Amino acid sequence: MVSATFRFYEELNDFLAPERRGHEFACPCARAASTKHMIEALGVPHTEVELVLVNGESVGFDRLLHDGDRVAVYPKFESLDITPLLRVRAQPLRETRFIADAHLGGLAHLLRMTGFDTLYDNAFRDDEIEHIAAAQGRIVLTRDRGLLKRRTITHGCYVRTLRSAKQIRELFDRLDLARSARPFTLCLHCNAPLAAVEKALVAAVLPPGVRERYERFSTCDVCKRVFWEGTHWQRMRAMVDELLAQTA
Ligand SMILES: [Zn+2]
Repeated sequence: MVSATFRFYEELNDFLAPERRGHEFACPCARAASTKHMIEALGVPHTEVELVLVNGESVGFDRLLHDGDRVAVYPKFESLDITPLLRVRAQPLRETRFIADAHLGGLAHLLRMTGFDTLYDNAFRDDEIEHIAAAQGRIVLTRDRGLLKRRTITHGCYVRTLRSAKQIRELFDRLDLARSARPFTLCLHCNAPLAAVEKALVAAVLPPGVRERYERFSTCDVCKRVFWEGTHWQRMRAMVDELLAQTA
């Protein structure tokens, strides 16, 4: 057995046992334990971690721990400027795309509303989520820490809040999403792109009141639904505007 000391910063403390929060503590490590192994053994999913320093030097998740090592673990977007240091992941994902677990249907819906490609199906099993995230470069959204500890999940977000309106706010703040939001470009049902469509082409399927009042329409290639800027859309627009304004 070797012993190392650990200190976790900011919200990473939420994952620790109460007596380990906010200060350095010593912990025995198995022989040949890596930083990732120990960080997760202490309760912190590796996807929540942005930077690990061992004895003041930036290391990867595979660094083996030695007796007397001092390990400092930082969350993503900690205000400390860590840009000059090597981070635990080679690079960020090029495009922000998500896969949400079975409990986050409301959040998935709101992400689609703001234009973020988000896969969601309440029948997804954990191993399917892991497989799809790796194959398609998607960020896993979940409130299940065990899921984030899976080996091939490199980008994930543990969602802390419970209600979907709070969850979307949390993600916008944490991942700085406002800049890349493209509201009302995706079908909320299918996650497929919406395309503008000539009124004449859809007039036959519109309720008479809608046909009289609206001129602009869009449609989804997958479900063939037709959308217009009615009262439901206006409520969503107000919500999106608020989300984008608060972030600015
Ligand atoms: Zn659709």
